[in-house]
Amino acid sequence: MPGDREKPRAIVGPGGAFAFAGLLATIALGTRASDYHAPGFGTALPAGGLAVLWLLVRGARVLSWDSGLLLVLVFGLNLALGSEPEVAAALAVAVLVQSLLAVVLLRRWCPGLWGCGGDRPLDRPRVLARLGATLLLSSAVGAVLATIAWTALTHEDLDLGGLLWFGRNACSAFIVVTFGLLVGERLTGEPPRPRLLSNASWAELFATAVFTAGMYALAFSFDELPLAFPLLAATVWVGLRFSTLLSAAHSFVAGVATIFLTMAGIGPFAAVDRADLGYLLAEFYVATICITGLGLSTGRDEREALAAELRRTKEEADYQASVRQAVIGSMNEGLFVVDDAGEVLLHNAAAAEIFGVSEAEMTRELLAARSDRWADGTPMRDEDRPSSRALAGETPREVEILVRTGDQPDRVVAVSAIPLPRDGLRGRARALVLFRDTTLDHARREELAAFAGVVAHDLRNPLAAIDGWTEMIADELDAGSLDDELAREFVSRVRSSARRMRELIRDLLAHATSSARDLEVSRVEVGALVAEVAAARHAEDKIFCGPVPPVLADPVLVRQVLDNLVGNALKYVAPGVEPRIAVCGAAGALGFVTVRVIDNGIGIPADERELIFDEFHRAHYRDYEGSGLGLSIVRRIVTRHDGTIVALPNPDGPGSVFEFTLPAYDG
Ligand code: ADP
Repeated sequence: MPGDREKPRAIVGPGGAFAFAGLLATIALGTRASDYHAPGFGTALPAGGLAVLWLLVRGARVLSWDSGLLLVLVFGLNLALGSEPEVAAALAVAVLVQSLLAVVLLRRWCPGLWGCGGDRPLDRPRVLARLGATLLLSSAVGAVLATIAWTALTHEDLDLGGLLWFGRNACSAFIVVTFGLLVGERLTGEPPRPRLLSNASWAELFATAVFTAGMYALAFSFDELPLAFPLLAATVWVGLRFSTLLSAAHSFVAGVATIFLTMAGIGPFAAVDRADLGYLLAEFYVATICITGLGLSTGRDEREALAAELRRTKEEADYQASVRQAVIGSMNEGLFVVDDAGEVLLHNAAAAEIFGVSEAEMTRELLAARSDRWADGTPMRDEDRPSSRALAGETPREVEILVRTGDQPDRVVAVSAIPLPRDGLRGRARALVLFRDTTLDHARREELAAFAGVVAHDLRNPLAAIDGWTEMIADELDAGSLDDELAREFVSRVRSSARRMRELIRDLLAHATSSARDLEVSRVEVGALVAEVAAARHAEDKIFCGPVPPVLADPVLVRQVLDNLVGNALKYVAPGVEPRIAVCGAAGALGFVTVRVIDNGIGIPADERELIFDEFHRAHYRDYEGSGLGLSIVRRIVTRHDGTIVALPNPDGPGSVFEFTLPAYDG
């Protein structure tokens, strides 16, 4: 038996065993004086239940000194109550078997219950049913054993004796075991303990007590009237309104009172013609009120526990929802969830912002209308949409599409979509769509691709020229017709192509570093830098520099600006014209200094004065060499200093004026 294999937990010490023994003896002997003479079985209520409770809380095994003590005690009590020794011994064995069977079965069938190996109170109808079945079964086994032993040993007719044994023991087990286990759990259980009164008040408890006492007084005052049934009303009241413990206590008090009053010949049960039949009815009545009361209160306990669990789950779900809302609300990425019926189930503020719609307007139709093209502007079929693909079970990643809101510039958006588990209620497919604005990245990538194309083209040109000239040298050498003059001409062409390549590579490097380099600003004298540039280009006599207020800028980058502008001014002059360049400056508005570089060159066509600042744009590409990168570098540097640059015609004659601003140094 499992109760024997595992060591059951003893909740009370050995002293408890003697207390139970004393209580049992007192009750058994105390009821001796009454006229309660069920044939042969002198032991009174609630002895059967006490024995089960004793063995449970002592954690007694089948073979234990508690079992021995119980056996000896019941034997002694039966002797004292007038049984023959062999009958007393047989009945003591029946009591012990019945009690141990109840204990072992309770430990197996109700392992979570306090006293039976667990720590839960009796708060579920299912456990109550198991407990009831165990007590009925064990009492029935005890009754059968006792009947057999009695009949075999005395050869007398037992009449209702077996049934009385069963009724008495089952009834006492119900009221004593349930009440005892509930009290024990209450006293030893961990706080917080549930309210004894449940949701009722002390006033209601008082009213219930008065009602119960009144009903019992009424029922037990009229012996001749069968007034037992209204007593159930009190049990139902307590069962519905108070805790299981109070309900068990109520049944306990009412049950004990009923039995003792019946034993004293008072009340409706005592009025039955046969006394033993009266006892039997009283016992079944007690069992009925006990089961009814406990059934109602454990049912309510269970409902309350479920309601509390539901409340907890709802609170938890609300909390999770608020965290989820906070997280998705704070995301920079747009997010929405759609189902295959086209409903937008969830979205965040970023999604509404990217699509240029208000939170209320987030419908799939509107989103679809605003994003029906690929990033390159070609129309997109509905089934190719990332959301449609995810609803079909695919997982598209970083698909670039165009978002056209109408009032804002078009945006390029990278979309990823993930299929979600189906909606369990309506069976709809759902998809999570995530997207971020990649307009800038996209533009930069396009720019880079165009840039790389031009770079490749411009580098290939001088290379092709070098290839061509060296091939011609080889041909002439083979033919033996390469004279010095021709050789010099060819070599000079090759060197010129190589120089163009070198300059292009230098400009490319300058272009790449003009935005990568960190600005290190300090006071810069533009005049001194112009002088440096002029000296480096051996053009001191062609460049005149007027006073320029000091600026706060990165000197290395400002020198690059001046070098580019002066270099262009020296280069773009008509053949035979002596270049003349003037640099001047003045403090302008908003803390900026305006610097002008004025030349007498060939000028710039009006429609190209803005375009020349784009990468690789060249206005005079036929007659002058260059990479088309210088001015784009210049604009980038000036812009990084928060300044501006424009190209203007020279008002005083042919040529151009490049006018740029830099922050003034006001130290
Ligand atoms: P590059 O000089 O290498 O061609 P830039 O970006 O410096 O490239 O200049 C872009 C174009 O602007 C030049 O090709 C030229 O047509 C025009 N340009 C620049 N500076 C002047 C200038 N001072 N006078 C006339 N045209 C100029």
